Amino acid sequence: MKFVSTRNDVPAATLSGAIAAGLAPDGGLYVPERLPGPRKLQPGASLAATTAALLAPFFEGDALAPELAAICAEALDFPVPLKPLATPGDHVLELFHGPTAAFKDVGARFLAAALARIRRGADAPLTILVATSGDTGAAVAAAFHGQPGLRVVVLYPDGRVSPRQAHQLGCFGGNVVALRVAGSFDDCQALVKRALNDARLQAQVPLSSANSISLGRLLPQMSYYAHAALGHHAASGRVLDVVIPTGNLGNALAAILARALGVPLGRIVLATNANRVLPEYFAGGDYAPRASVATLANAMDVGAPSNFERLRWLYAGDDAALRAAFTAQAVDDAAIRAAIRQRWERHGEVFCPHTATAVRVLETLRAQGAGGDWAVAATAHPAKFESVVEPLLGQPVPVPPALAELLARPAHAEPMPPDYAALRAHLLGPGAD
Ligand SMILES: *Cc1c(COP(=O)(O)O)cnc(C)c1O
Repeated sequence: MKFVSTRNDVPAATLSGAIAAGLAPDGGLYVPERLPGPRKLQPGASLAATTAALLAPFFEGDALAPELAAICAEALDFPVPLKPLATPGDHVLELFHGPTAAFKDVGARFLAAALARIRRGADAPLTILVATSGDTGAAVAAAFHGQPGLRVVVLYPDGRVSPRQAHQLGCFGGNVVALRVAGSFDDCQALVKRALNDARLQAQVPLSSANSISLGRLLPQMSYYAHAALGHHAASGRVLDVVIPTGNLGNALAAILARALGVPLGRIVLATNANRVLPEYFAGGDYAPRASVATLANAMDVGAPSNFERLRWLYAGDDAALRAAFTAQAVDDAAIRAAIRQRWERHGEVFCPHTATAVRVLETLRAQGAGGDWAVAATAHPAKFESVVEPLLGQPVPVPPALAELLARPAHAEPMPPDYAALRAHLLGPGAD
């Protein structure tokens, strides 16, 4: 399988080439040149085995193909259970049992396992540069920590991630450098983009990104939808409908691709926070990217969803067909708070603010008469967002063991002004040679 750019201006790349590059050279996103036909998948197989079977056509002909099973086994070594909720027919797909307690562990661990193999034998270490508003940086830092031939430099907006997120970013050390930038997430992202486009810098320090546009993160995110939907279908004979908390559309796009490959998923509904670009588009408006607004579900504070370009490609630019295929609903902060508080009071269920957007959307769908079996994708453990969740519950949320272990380590982040010369100095400084 070869991969082309959504902007069609560059030659097709191999899977390894596309994963190593991150963004295509014309600024587009890599997509498979065609979608493989429906896959024959066995229910009851492990998450890793299901994923290897699902991804095999994408790896065909690539140098990584013989390593696919090993990459899946290494990256997908934690459970992603589908659990029933108190309300009949409703479920939660828990994606937060990895090292940093968010679903981004899946993509980050797969990307790290793939890149470590792609870079085997390379002369210079590869620096993975990430701008993060919280979860991405922690997942990438955890996944790449200790990987030979790879280094991570994480930029985050100082004071604008939760204290536990900041701790997670700074607690690795070794080949992971955390930079706390005196600026916004957009400042961090602009600095990273500039460095990735700086040919002179790249000649000295090979750089790559690990943003949600990376194919190495997108493809493995199909894994949990496949595993859960196959299991559910085998047990009940019914497809699984899903509501997905959405920011850059990486998680939702993986579900859409999985369904296209024959995974027994039904409806796919997108839940956003008060950043309404997608709900407005799916309701018939223009696609109008804009600056993001800050919400309680901060990992979804996205005003220009980066994977939208891939979604449009999938529908060959046919907006009417795309709008007919999905719905998206926005949930504001007051409704996020209400969902967290009410589910706790009525059912003893605890959700993070991101997951709560999807819970609220599912409640709305049920109130409108939606039938079927639904799963809410739980994208982070509520203990990661304790400053939002605990006051609403009126009690502490127990911290899962993997997260507790990270929080017990000392943490350090270097302060940095939001300017490019400072970033260059960090990249070229000690350890960069
Ligand atoms: C990143 C993130 C999201 C949004 O995922 P996308 O793939 O960007 O749509 C939702 N919830 C949490 C907890 C996240 O970290």
